[in-house]
Amino acid sequence: MVDLGSIGVALSSIKTAGEIAKMLKDSDLSLEQAEFKFKLAELVSSLADAKMEIAAVQESIVEKDRIIRDLKNANETHKKMVWQGSVYYQESEGEVDEVFCPQCYDNHQKAIRLQNHGSMGWYCKTCSNGFDKGK
Ligand SMILES: [Zn+2]
Repeated sequence: MVDLGSIGVALSSIKTAGEIAKMLKDSDLSLEQAEFKFKLAELVSSLADAKMEIAAVQESIVEKDRIIRDLKNANETHKKMVWQGSVYYQESEGEVDEVFCPQCYDNHQKAIRLQNHGSMGWYCKTCSNGFDKGK
C-alpha cells in the first residue's frame, strides 16, 4: 500500500520537471544541443516518475475507498443483526425477514442466509451446520 511519501516523491518530481522546463524556456537557445537533449530527457524522466507515483496514490485511494465501503456495509449489517435462540435474524417492518448462520457470521463476518428445513430447523449450505428453531 502507498504511503504519504509517494505524494512527496510525485511533488518533488513535478518540481524538478518545472525547474528544468523553466531553465529550458529561459535558456535563450544558448545551450548546446547535447545539453538541451539531456535536460529534455531529465524533464521527461521527472514527469514519468511523477505520473507513476500519482498512479500508485490513485490506486491506493481506490483501495481505501473499497475498504471504507466494505466496513460501512459490515457495520450496517451488524446493526441490523439480532441474536435469538441459536441464530441471527434481521427484521423488516416488525417481522423476521431473514435468518442467518451464527457460525459463518461470528467466525467469518459473512451474513449467510439459512435454509428453512421446517421442523428439522435451519441449515447452512456454506458451513453445513444445522440449528434448532427452539427459542
Ligand atoms: Zn454457516
